[in-house]
Amino acid sequence: MAAPRTARIGAVTVPLDKCDWVLWRKCGCPRGVAAAADVPTEDKAWKTLYARWKDIAHAIRRGEHMELMTHERWCAEVAGQMLACCTHEQDGGAS
Ligand SMILES: [Zn+2]
Repeated sequence: MAAPRTARIGAVTVPLDKCDWVLWRKCGCPRGVAAAADVPTEDKAWKTLYARWKDIAHAIRRGEHMELMTHERWCAEVAGQMLACCTHEQDGGAS
């Protein structure tokens, strides 16, 4: 077994396999999630959620950003928001 990979979130060091990458829309709604156990870096998380770098560049221009958080926080704060549809804006149309 390899040594456990860890990440630093704020002042806390946490094992990556207990974290998730959350992709946030500009409006503050979550758009996607990738398990950090599978995709340890932010770049890989983007590539999991978007097929092409071009799409990633578009997403960043739209104001989307990636955040690493613990799975605990994901469950408590974000999972429910993922189930609710974003009512703020329609995206993807112009890109
Ligand atoms: Zn929204």
